[in-house]
Amino acid sequence: MALEIRARHMWDGDAGWTGPVTVRVEGDRIRLVEKGAPTVPRERAGVLDFGEATILPGLVDMHTHLGINHRTGDMRAQMTDPPARHVAAGMHSLLADLESGVTTAKLNGDREFYDIQVRDAIRDGVARGPRLLVSGRGIKSSRCTGGVVATCIVDDVEAIGRCVDENLAAGADWIKLFSSGSVLGALADVLQPFYGTAQLAVAASKAHAAGKRMSSHCFGGEAADACIAAGVDVIDHGWLLTDRQLDAMGKRGTWLCPTVGVLTHPDGVLAHIPPGPAHDAAKRRRDEVCGVARKALGSGVPLLVGTDAMHGGLAYELETLQDLGGAPAALLRAATGNAAQALGLTGEIGAVREGAAADLLVVGGNALLDVSRLAGVLLVVQAGRIVKKG
Ligand SMILES: [Zn+2]
Repeated sequence: MALEIRARHMWDGDAGWTGPVTVRVEGDRIRLVEKGAPTVPRERAGVLDFGEATILPGLVDMHTHLGINHRTGDMRAQMTDPPARHVAAGMHSLLADLESGVTTAKLNGDREFYDIQVRDAIRDGVARGPRLLVSGRGIKSSRCTGGVVATCIVDDVEAIGRCVDENLAAGADWIKLFSSGSVLGALADVLQPFYGTAQLAVAASKAHAAGKRMSSHCFGGEAADACIAAGVDVIDHGWLLTDRQLDAMGKRGTWLCPTVGVLTHPDGVLAHIPPGPAHDAAKRRRDEVCGVARKALGSGVPLLVGTDAMHGGLAYELETLQDLGGAPAALLRAATGNAAQALGLTGEIGAVREGAAADLLVVGGNALLDVSRLAGVLLVVQAGRIVKKG
């Protein structure tokens, strides 16, 4: 079935356009992108004219998880939920992501390869959710104080290599290692590295040899230097990176996926810490992290965006980064064209371009000037099918 979508503004994945624009979808592909006055009669069935609105590619959440949700409480408990409940809750979360305009998501470590099974179920039309790229089991050291989602607990290089091999054999699209622990607590503890260059390099080289990529949960310190040196593709969080490290990432082309909203949102990490000294210390750490994010946004580091299991909250993440000084175009690019590049899916997703997958989002107003507009979803199309309207 053909569908025509019209609006006053468009973000094409790389650049903005203001003026009438028509996007024609046939089957699961974008067939036509027509700038200027439409040449096809507007009364035809299948034409959706949104007027003062913005057409964008479906967004990409580059850091989330299946079976945990920061909004709904204790993640440790969620990780030990019975399997059916864990996956059912995950499907509920992924639907919230899809209906918020996220048509592709990268899962960053989940239980027992459920993420691989869910990815395939969505691909086969058995379940609804964003197109998924998944990491299988997250890998962390036995000393690691964070990484509640990581279930491959290994310390030496050989054991890490075996975990990577098992994840790849099971069908993981990415490899995910935790090289830092928790962001809360004394700075020396937060910056304690749990893996060095040798451990990170074995994972990165195995992932790359298999044509896959690798991300690492890392806040800064020696672990960040090791990630950059080892050729890790994406540093997740990077909340305490120094100017020198940001500079090195920019030179090397290491992506940063900052996930700041999980610290600033009223339902995020801080909501689960009772009032008192620990809560006050967490607020100070949050403010410190916002300061680093502000610098990162002005540093030229290649940027991605993710919610870290604040499901349905990518618009909030983008708005938070905009408040920290991020330019709307840079943020929209992070959520579309950059993500497609990092995922190796340039031209297929993250673009309103003829021949690309018909994954589209329409939001009210001009999102080119203000990314908070992304919260006003008018239409979500996935593979040419309307999955949410109004
Ligand atoms: Zn995460």
